[in-house]
Amino acid sequence: MECLFCKIINGEIPSAKVYEDEFVYSFKDIAPIAPVHYLIIPKQHICCANEIDETNSALVAKVFEAAAKIAKAEGIESYRIINNCGDDAGQTVKHLHFHMLAGVKMGWGAESLGRTE
Ligand code: AMP
Ligand code: ZN
Repeated sequence: MECLFCKIINGEIPSAKVYEDEFVYSFKDIAPIAPVHYLIIPKQHICCANEIDETNSALVAKVFEAAAKIAKAEGIESYRIINNCGDDAGQTVKHLHFHMLAGVKMGWGAESLGRTE
């Protein structure tokens, strides 16, 4: 399958692994926007949040379980998890992934959307 993140999961493309279990893989984002910027992805190929349904939603819970484990293991007390779904939201890789951001005081509100138009 021509999916970048599937290739990362099966080791065809190298990545800086942060965490792995039966269901989930986590690695450092190649272009971090915060001091801590990890991606957490289900090993099963799901294109985007819009494809989550009753057959695969348990994997999303596994992603959040992994985030909590990573945070505890690394002593991260505060973090933000973001999912971009679709082009307008800025999704560039069509394999469901969650950005875990930490290590900086983050803004919140309309200005934090980073609008481009
Ligand atoms: P998104 O824009 O939400 O689809 O996020 C995709 C993310 O994947 C971006 O933050 C990229 O920097 C990141 N990315 C792309 N290629 C790689 C790679 N080979 N290893 C790690 N992160 C990557
Ligand atoms: Zn994939």
